[in-house]
Amino acid sequence: MLLSPNKISYVLTHLGHHIPEIDRDNILVLKESESVPENTSGKLIFSLRGAKEPEPVMVTWRGKKIPVLFGQSHKRESVFQIDQKGNVIFHHDLLSSAFYLLSGQQEYEANETDQFGRFPYNLSIQKKLNCVHLPLVNYYFEMILEGLEAHAQLNNSKIRRRKLFDNFGFFLSHDVDRVAFYHPFNVLYKIKQIIGLAPVNYSKIKAARLFFQGVFYNLNPFRGEDPWWNFDWMMNLEKRLGIRSTFFFLKQEDRFDNSLYKYHYKKIKNLITKVSEDGFEAGLHGTMRSAIDAKNLLQQKSEFSRVTGIEPVGIRQHYLRFSIPLTFKNQQGAGFKYDTSLAFAEHDGYRNGYCWPFHPFDFENDKMMPIWEIPLVMMEVSVLNYRKAGFTGLQEAVAHYTAEAEKFGGIFSLLWHNCRLSDIEIPGVTEFYEHLLKEIMQHKPQPVRGIDIYRKINAL
Ligand SMILES: [Zn+2]
Repeated sequence: MLLSPNKISYVLTHLGHHIPEIDRDNILVLKESESVPENTSGKLIFSLRGAKEPEPVMVTWRGKKIPVLFGQSHKRESVFQIDQKGNVIFHHDLLSSAFYLLSGQQEYEANETDQFGRFPYNLSIQKKLNCVHLPLVNYYFEMILEGLEAHAQLNNSKIRRRKLFDNFGFFLSHDVDRVAFYHPFNVLYKIKQIIGLAPVNYSKIKAARLFFQGVFYNLNPFRGEDPWWNFDWMMNLEKRLGIRSTFFFLKQEDRFDNSLYKYHYKKIKNLITKVSEDGFEAGLHGTMRSAIDAKNLLQQKSEFSRVTGIEPVGIRQHYLRFSIPLTFKNQQGAGFKYDTSLAFAEHDGYRNGYCWPFHPFDFENDKMMPIWEIPLVMMEVSVLNYRKAGFTGLQEAVAHYTAEAEKFGGIFSLLWHNCRLSDIEIPGVTEFYEHLLKEIMQHKPQPVRGIDIYRKINAL
């Protein structure tokens, strides 16, 4: 399908975040079947493939093989050519390729979801082409910018680049799903795990030991702090390393699907206040229902503000449950300025092929939406539980993503749950996590909260 003028404009707006001004009068977009009109000179010329499904072509660009989703198979090697009239002609349909990923078109067109109502990684083009680890849209934009630079040189001028970060932005966040390891519900759940009615990541002997520890903990009048009430440790570590993260809080709803706490619980309310007063950000972690229920989400946000006195700017949906573009519409309607849910749950990487913040696209009304998406790059569970890559695999993946973020002056965003920071359940995790954060900081990123990124991109 050919891109509508609004869709072309959507892609060019995002390209425009990388350079201060694009002269749209200089851009000519043709259909694949059209040839360049006779008297055209000094233009940047794109042609639209119009194919319904991606027809990927591998293009070698700066020594790296990059899949271009809507490619021209007979023009494999070069990205553009300059004709005698000074036109820069792009060979592949980079506009449709960028639109396809950035807008989440594949999710909009898919008619299957997993058991939690999510778009499955297994159905994605990224899985098919094995390219989820590459921010493809950033590569496409670089290809276009190379053409723009060549075009500017022909006219004895230069293009000025815009950067979001000098090096890259490190956005650390925490979804506060569970706060009590020894909550009676969690202790009793161990019985289900022992008899095989619930999944368990460690041996049944260990599950049995944790069950008895839990019973003892609940009966002990002199018990210490719960292993999942580790917020002071988390915040102190970050303060030492010069990091300020964003915490997303999830309220209890519909029995066991969400958390086991409410915003008005004294301990929770105090925690949210402390997070905010110490320079961290407190955002909302939308419940399972809120992803598809506008009224429900609005109620959650009002309750959060009423109880804590904090107006949340950002949101992440629990379980990364998301429906495009419905969830964005609900979030925007409730007054959120940014979402940061878009990663595949089953695999770390770039769900929308981009390591910069971007606007979603409203397919029903053919227009760009004002809310921002700050793409999530890695959730620890995706690597440790879904991919079972272990600490070493996680460390390697982080090294790769920070390098990609550095390449494009973009963002590496990492979600680590507080309930995945207990050595009782995951031996060695606290030491590993501390080391990992130090390693990331050695690359000299700018540590940012979601709200900082939102302010930065708006000020571009
Ligand atoms: Zn969650």
